[in-house]
Amino acid sequence: MEQFDVAIVGGGPGGYVAAIRAAKSGLTVALIEGNELGGTCLNRGCIPSKTLLKHAEVLKQIKDSSALAIHVENVSVDLATMIERKNNVINQLKNGIKGLLRQNKIKYYQGYGYVADDGKVTIKSEKSNENIQAKHVILATGSQVFIPPIQGAQEVTMYTSDTIFDIEEIPERLVIVGGGVIGLEIACIFNSLGTKVDIVEMAERILPMEDREAGEFLKKELENDGITFHIDAQVTEFKKTETDNKVIFHKDGKEITLETDIILMSVGRRPNVTGIEDLTIQFDGPFVKVDKNMQTSQPNIYAVGDLIGGFQLAHAASNEGIRAVDHILGNENKKNAIIPHCVYTFPEIASVGFTEEQAKEAGHQVKVKKIDLAGNGKAISALENKGFMKIIADKKYNEVLGVVMVGAHVTEMISQATAFMHLEGTVEEIESMVFPHPTLAEGLFEAASAYLGKGIHYN
Ligand code: FAD
Repeated sequence: MEQFDVAIVGGGPGGYVAAIRAAKSGLTVALIEGNELGGTCLNRGCIPSKTLLKHAEVLKQIKDSSALAIHVENVSVDLATMIERKNNVINQLKNGIKGLLRQNKIKYYQGYGYVADDGKVTIKSEKSNENIQAKHVILATGSQVFIPPIQGAQEVTMYTSDTIFDIEEIPERLVIVGGGVIGLEIACIFNSLGTKVDIVEMAERILPMEDREAGEFLKKELENDGITFHIDAQVTEFKKTETDNKVIFHKDGKEITLETDIILMSVGRRPNVTGIEDLTIQFDGPFVKVDKNMQTSQPNIYAVGDLIGGFQLAHAASNEGIRAVDHILGNENKKNAIIPHCVYTFPEIASVGFTEEQAKEAGHQVKVKKIDLAGNGKAISALENKGFMKIIADKKYNEVLGVVMVGAHVTEMISQATAFMHLEGTVEEIESMVFPHPTLAEGLFEAASAYLGKGIHYN
């Protein structure tokens, strides 16, 4: 039986990043993937959604271009070629990962791994069953789409994020069940393609994990763009008729029916526990329980990524993979990582740290300053002045506890705020930094100076 220092089960951003880091640190590594390298993120998540969002962004710019005195007529979309480009992007990146595995001499197994407490992993594929033995195992099996048991769900034309990015025809009407990040990003894609999009959300607001004002701002912008929201509305039944599909939901005590061509079910994901059923590790609800070193209740078994819950983001999974390897190498992880989170809608939302509500709940004396981007020079010149920047800080030392950005390109700017938080920076330190002009990023400086009562363009 082949022996390894580390066996990693799952080749998504949690698993493959951990594999490369472990191999670069001198450990012998096996990486086991049952489906496609790159996991959900590369094949069915981050990358396909962002590729198609780029097409949607260009279409939206063309639609809005008359405001720049550019008149475009007869715009047409070739869906098949768009999907082909999306697949090419995925393949390019997948080949990149394969190359990195080869370069780093990681033994790659294609098959499903079944893990035992003692570090034995049985790899089952169509061709063979093979056993390997590892001193340490990192579980990185990710998550899968969750479809709630709603009557009629099996009968209607239903897509999930696993299937929607390979759709063959642009639907005239789309009902999205779930107003979370994934549902909203896909709404933006189809809205730009000309589909009539309705979103049905059970909670009292969209994006319940994000800053309330950011969610409300985004909702208004998306409504202006033609997307219809049904909030505080619970879907109770689906029905298939000869001509279309019906989504039946209850709102304010009334039953409402929407007729649609297709439905996207996007109400969340659940951890993927295939292959770890025989382990005697502890769980926290549906998720594998770990400590800050990513160690499970079995000291030789680590777990990372969507499998352990938390943010369920690709960069969180990768960071956890690196932390697990660090601990295997004998280093304690002392600090919790600061994880930014982004919503790639039009406009975008990017946040890091606490929201105002969370900071208060955590017992901080909170001071908040929000400035809007309506007066930002670069934003006005680019017709991108819809949005705001908000700093949430502890009143006592003005330590930055959170930053929320809404607007164009904010997903590229949030790392500046993350850097301050990573270094336990204060609002004064943001204010003392020089930001280039004209940039949208100047909004962060303006928010910091206004917070300190020294605003130049804002109070
Ligand atoms: P996964 O990426 O799910 O990888 C797990 C892998 O393990 C899979 O390839 C699976 O086949 C394999 N596996 C499972 N069981 C076994 C087994 N027993 N043996 C062998 N292999 C096994 N996150 C972001 O940060 N930014 C985004 O923009 C973003 N957009 C998203 C858009 C969509 C539509 C979706 C669905 C998700 C998005 N996410 C995004 C979330 C992101 O994809 C996940 O957080 C991330 O993929 C989690 O990584 P992971 O390594 O934990 O799991």
